[in-house]
Amino acid sequence: MLDHEKYMRMALKEAVKAYQQGEIPIGAVLVNNEDGQVVATGFNLREQTMDATAHAEMEAIRKGCQALHRWRLSGCTLYVTIEPCAMCAGALVNSRIDRLVYGSNESKFGAVESIFNVVNHKLLNHRMEVVAGVLEDECRQLMKSFFHMRRLQNKARKQKQHELDC
Ligand SMILES: [Zn+2]
Repeated sequence: MLDHEKYMRMALKEAVKAYQQGEIPIGAVLVNNEDGQVVATGFNLREQTMDATAHAEMEAIRKGCQALHRWRLSGCTLYVTIEPCAMCAGALVNSRIDRLVYGSNESKFGAVESIFNVVNHKLLNHRMEVVAGVLEDECRQLMKSFFHMRRLQNKARKQKQHELDC
């Protein structure tokens, strides 16, 4: 049995890397269920790569498939700090992963419980175990503090621009 909090802490560390690079702080870790080895990690890189698909989960899935030399991630668990969006939830279904563990739900784009349920849809050919709410507060706080910081920065920028204009 995997220690969910231990791996979620690793995912949080990945999210902090994103934060430090000015990216929305979401991190992911892919783990082998058999031996608990970390197969791949990823964090959101959308701004730097100018790639709409560079979400934390996609990075971990892509790197994980390369590391395992297979596109099937059966036998693995993906840990991610925030509820996956429709794209990432779809990628998880396509990867045939066994289990998804996430921290905080996301009311604006979440595709596991908030808006849709892509990962356990009765008409899809693959379903996975889902564990939600692991280190929920930490995961949510990181997002909150990022958006708070960004609002302050935008305010400061506008203020500066206003002074230059006057
Ligand atoms: Zn996503």
